[in-house]
Amino acid sequence: MTKTLYKNAQVFTGKRENFEELSFVVDDQTGTFTSDEQVDQTIDLAGKYVMPGMINAHTHIVADPYGRIAQLGSSEASAPTATFLAITNLQKMMTDGVTYIRDVGSVADVDIELAALERQGDLFAPGIVASGSPLTMTGGHFSEGAYEVDGVDEVRKYARLLLKKGVNNIKLMATGGVSFDGETPHDIQLTEAELRAAIEEAHHKGRTANAHAQGTQGIQNALRAGVDSIEHAVYLDDETIDMFLQKGTYIVPTLAAPWAINQNPETLPDFMVNKSEELAQAHVESIGKAAQAGIPLVMGTDSGTSFNNFDKNSSIEMELMVNAGVTNLQVLQAATINAADLLQIDTQVGTIEANKLADFIILDDNPLENIKALQDEKTVYKKGKKVQ
Ligand SMILES: [Zn+2]
Repeated sequence: MTKTLYKNAQVFTGKRENFEELSFVVDDQTGTFTSDEQVDQTIDLAGKYVMPGMINAHTHIVADPYGRIAQLGSSEASAPTATFLAITNLQKMMTDGVTYIRDVGSVADVDIELAALERQGDLFAPGIVASGSPLTMTGGHFSEGAYEVDGVDEVRKYARLLLKKGVNNIKLMATGGVSFDGETPHDIQLTEAELRAAIEEAHHKGRTANAHAQGTQGIQNALRAGVDSIEHAVYLDDETIDMFLQKGTYIVPTLAAPWAINQNPETLPDFMVNKSEELAQAHVESIGKAAQAGIPLVMGTDSGTSFNNFDKNSSIEMELMVNAGVTNLQVLQAATINAADLLQIDTQVGTIEANKLADFIILDDNPLENIKALQDEKTVYKKGKKVQ
């Protein structure tokens, strides 16, 4: 069998804003959609809904959300343990319908090496845009799992080192956050000049850079410095929303991160629960305002943070976005065409069309009407191959 026709499905190709009844053909050999009409077998998808595989732009695949094996951002995970976790987590995400990720905080270059193995066909997993280890200031957010860098020259040096290792994105810490003690979401961390040095280096090589930024001032620093996406974007005022619109910068909300912490307050440290509870409402309001203002969103979960799992939270993030006031269409676009554009993988994925990777999900219900359809039984295909 080399070519399969999938017919009678309602398909969200990503090129239009609705589901439409159409057929498509997958070349099972190359794992791509094809315009060929000569097929070897036919699968009837009458009554089913098909969309491109979801792209999750914010993960930490080397972490165990339950903290049994390794905590996020800790250096205690050895390379073999981190690799084991990463491969396990990638498989879990694939069953949730995720066919591509951007990992934004790894250890031991695990994401860089797994990305290469997936690309060359040796690893059956979501495609990976790797960032390696993030850059943070000395004692900054994620400092145990990051390169601690201070001053423009040192930031530039480590940005170049990451690019030499083969990252496609550089992750920068512009503010403090929730998951670590001794800092707040409002703290400024890497300065605008330091951020700019790393972003320049990434852009000179045609790669992207993104910033963890939760407080307003840090978000503005990162926007002025020219990042491609702001992660979390918890505290947005009107001025900051205008800056996003002027720059065309994406937001990756990761609403699942505080949501997961706030579901499990009894087992987590007070500092984490207190900060998470304090910001959750502002976060939801900011993302709703951002969506209404027309800031382009990209789906990301921050999976790997406490209780933020890999098996369900991508489809749950989609629901959390809708609950925040993002339209179902914006949410579908956030996980497909917008994510593909941000990750610079739009020539390969993000829409259902000839010559792109046959990454798609088959659903029983229409997610434009009911976003929870994504959490129900589904069939996932990665490069034309069914995920078991
Ligand atoms: Zn993160």
